[in-house]
Amino acid sequence: MDFQLSEEQRAIRELVRDFAEKEIAPRAAEIDKTDEFPADVFSKMGAQGLLGLPYPEEYGGGGADVTSQALAVEEVSRVSGSVGLTYAAHLSLACGPLFMFGTEEQKKKWLAPLAKGEDLGALALTETKSGSDLAGSVATTAMLKGDEWILNGTKMYVTSGAVARSITVLCATDKAKGHRGLSMIVVPRGAPGLTIGKVEEKMGLHGSLTTQIFLEDCRVPKENLLGGEGEGFKQAMMTLDSGRIGIGAMALGLGRAALEASIKYAQERQAFGKPIADFQAIQWMIADCSVELEAARLLVLQAAYLKDTQQSFSQQAAMAKLFASEAADRACWKAIQIHGGAGYLRDFPVERFYRDNRLTMIGEGTSEILRMVIARNILRAP
Ligand SMILES: Cc1cc2nc3c(=O)[nH]c(=O)nc-3n(C[C@H](O)[C@H](O)[C@H](O)COP(=O)(O)OP(=O)(O)OC[C@H]3O[C@@H](n4cnc5c(N)ncnc54)[C@H](O)[C@@H]3O)c2cc1C
Repeated sequence: MDFQLSEEQRAIRELVRDFAEKEIAPRAAEIDKTDEFPADVFSKMGAQGLLGLPYPEEYGGGGADVTSQALAVEEVSRVSGSVGLTYAAHLSLACGPLFMFGTEEQKKKWLAPLAKGEDLGALALTETKSGSDLAGSVATTAMLKGDEWILNGTKMYVTSGAVARSITVLCATDKAKGHRGLSMIVVPRGAPGLTIGKVEEKMGLHGSLTTQIFLEDCRVPKENLLGGEGEGFKQAMMTLDSGRIGIGAMALGLGRAALEASIKYAQERQAFGKPIADFQAIQWMIADCSVELEAARLLVLQAAYLKDTQQSFSQQAAMAKLFASEAADRACWKAIQIHGGAGYLRDFPVERFYRDNRLTMIGEGTSEILRMVIARNILRAP
């Protein structure tokens, strides 16, 4: 389903698919098994210009659009959810706010090395007591003392925090103002008072580094404030709106991988003297997955198109992520069913797709929060 894609978008998709199949696919099972961060894969992605794909060339990016970004994330996730999440988070969570809210000087200093692919970046919103409820409960603080911000607090689940060149941190610069007192501050690797916690052990997405970060009287220059003071909550919401297109694309890639594996297995596996693909029960599972993933793709591409054409896309991005993540979950579930006992074994990739996709219903807005956002927008409409 690519009738609405331009020549350039198709070419980018082909390039990334080719790269993913050659450079990532042969490593995917091993990355899952060892839980090791594949630094070499990201160096190669950087060299290919993939780590700054949708950002302007003047900052070292590829000058492509959001639709191409979604296609690239889908192709990478189709072979490895782990590399897919790290990639999606780098583009949307790390580079996104630096591009959207940074001054010219900040973009050159912080965005350019990430977009050129020299390093990965990270975004730290979540805390132990502040996940879905960002507005009400961010405890990390930053106080201006002379020419420096002094940050204190603990952030959780920071994707790539352990290797990031810079981590953009959401913190309270004026506690009394609630969510209107939140700001984003760029904390560079090695800043005094920044400690990276242990890498979390997860059910899936092994090899994507998820860490706590500790800020203890962490000092960064005054000019590391991103945008204006008090704009952090709005900036976080705008970043998540864009990020949801990426997570929708990631789910789409994983769902597609599950469906492709199912089709192949159903045609090869014999039972009762014929391929299981001949049984209507299997055919219906394959048909349902295909329809749902096609619908998910249209939603993801619609949200990307709206963003590319500078139209409002927040609602469509929420819908795309909600539907794509749950459609992919059903596709992965059915893939295991179609594989029977083999689907439950690590020898086959479908249980990895299932575990990896589970996150897409949690990160960057849980399915419950997205339903809340979508309903609120509908009910508020005139
Ligand atoms: C692998 C991984 C990578 C991540 N990467 C990052 C990252 O790079 N940066 C970052 O900042 N964060 C990251 N996160 C954190 C992620 O965004 C949060 O886990 C997510 O937003 C949910 O927050 P929570 O875990 O605190 O859950 P909670 O907010 O505690 O939610 C728990 C449950 O309650 C439900 N719930 C909460 N409020 C409501 C409500 N009002 N109505 C109905 N139901 C509700 C939720 O839907 C959920 O089912 C990552 C998480 C994981 C697992």
